[in-house]
Amino acid sequence: MSPRADLKPRLYSPGPTEVPPYVLQALGSPITHHRSPVFSEYLMEVSENLKYVVKTGQDVYIILASATGAMEAAVSNLLSPGDKAICVRGGKFGERWSEICTAYGVEAINIDVEWGYAVDPAVIADTLKKNPDVKAVYTTLSETSTGIVTDAKAVAEVIGKTNAVMVIDATSSLGATPLLTDQWGVDVVVGGGHKALTIPPGLAFISLSEKAWKLTAASKCPKYYLDLKKYRSSLAKQTTPFTPGVNLVMGLRESLKAFREEGYNRTMRRHEILGEAMRAGVKAMGLEVYPKAPFNGLTAILAPDGMDAGEIVKTLRNKYGITIAGGQDSLKGKIFRFAHMGYADRMDVPLMLAATEMVLADLGRPVPEAGKGVGAAMEILNREWPNLASITD
Ligand SMILES: *Cc1c(COP(=O)(O)O)cnc(C)c1O
Repeated sequence: MSPRADLKPRLYSPGPTEVPPYVLQALGSPITHHRSPVFSEYLMEVSENLKYVVKTGQDVYIILASATGAMEAAVSNLLSPGDKAICVRGGKFGERWSEICTAYGVEAINIDVEWGYAVDPAVIADTLKKNPDVKAVYTTLSETSTGIVTDAKAVAEVIGKTNAVMVIDATSSLGATPLLTDQWGVDVVVGGGHKALTIPPGLAFISLSEKAWKLTAASKCPKYYLDLKKYRSSLAKQTTPFTPGVNLVMGLRESLKAFREEGYNRTMRRHEILGEAMRAGVKAMGLEVYPKAPFNGLTAILAPDGMDAGEIVKTLRNKYGITIAGGQDSLKGKIFRFAHMGYADRMDVPLMLAATEMVLADLGRPVPEAGKGVGAAMEILNREWPNLASITD
């Protein structure tokens, strides 16, 4: 697209997300050699700050890959062909766990959750009881495809009573919804930088508990680039096993500095307010929020009866310069998804709601009462946003 002053590109997709200027600037830094002392310094600073984000005392390894690379590592490093694993499937990303397991010859016992709902921890407990030889349970914290958030604390409590390790895909969750890894007893956390952590795609993260490290010793799945033992021994020497994404790490450094400065709890509360305001606005417009247990980093909205959500997505892009996401697979044409995670402030929500109202009118389905959605959101934003300042951690 050629540059235009009258059509600003706005990225409200749930990954990649908008990258703030202070990160963009760092991405354009002169290249630092990855074996230099100064890069080691950056790497250790970033690693320390990642522990703060993941809420763990364990190391968090950075892999140059999309988040799926870390998901793959969470299978190939923990298990052996023929092992059994439970995969919770309530959306595209839960399905991915099952596909990766199958690719490695791991027997996937799938818990199929109706899309739009979060898994019931009792079902996991029951499945574990019936399959006491399961080595790992693969879950998703925020299932980006449906917009739900899992009760990870309750799930961790169930799995923690067994020999199995709990693996959680927190790719869109890190920095947007709480995950108290060590406190809740979550064993393996997988993440990525291009959702709420506001960097371009390319970096994946993974951390392992002691319980999970024990599994790696017996793992016979093939691995080389994603062999986490290499990442562990390298990080102990303040370096990486292979050439890291040097400038992505530079960008992440700025993003995590901003995260620390805002503070964990305040960042979480910000997302809560954005989520609440967005959902209130959607409902006030007469639309329906799709997920039953909504994640605060994105809102999946059901297209009004008989409307193709794909048309909404397309018109937003072409006419308004706004990029969002539609639904996938069985949700294709049915939902449209706005992200409000990471680099998102109180002005984003009214804009998204106004854009929705405008596009619905364009497509011949105006909302019953103009401005009602924006008004409902503003009420929450005006009331809650000023209280953020008093949250100091
Ligand atoms: C984005 C995302 C991923 C990873 O997708 P990549 O394309 O590999 O980055 C995995 N899980 C969830 C929940 C996601 O939102």
